[in-house]
Amino acid sequence: MPRRVRRRCQCCQLGQTFADRADGVSRRSDTVCARCEFHRGPNDELQRAQDHEALVREQLDACRSWATRTEVEVKRRRDQVAAAYELVDRERQKQERAFDLIGRINDLHTVRPSGDCTCAKRGCQTASLVYQDWVQARVNV
Ligand SMILES: [Zn+2]
Ligand SMILES: [Zn+2]
Ligand SMILES: [Zn+2]
Repeated sequence: MPRRVRRRCQCCQLGQTFADRADGVSRRSDTVCARCEFHRGPNDELQRAQDHEALVREQLDACRSWATRTEVEVKRRRDQVAAAYELVDRERQKQERAFDLIGRINDLHTVRPSGDCTCAKRGCQTASLVYQDWVQARVNV
């Protein structure tokens, strides 16, 4: 099997696939694509025109279906990214709600200088729960 190369056909002027023979012998099939081989005669003008139109249409269709595939893939990726962001957003909202709750608990259980908690309990265990450094750093922003 000879290697295949893309080259412009001298007849239809489209990029076509050619067998890559490196033997230095010049053949018509090196410059004219397989489809154009069929309408090479001087009296084949109509056939040539029809074939060329078909060739152009084929390449356009291939181009279009490639574009559609690419579009679908881009949309799929975009949806994936959007879904990932949504997930992160939901997690962040959950976290916000949790810290809002901790903030409210913190407000209800503030230890006065006397050692009493604002909930009226002395040595309040709830107050000692929210009085951890990392909680305070988060709720007092
Ligand atoms: Zn051609
Ligand atoms: Zn042709
Ligand atoms: Zn308390």
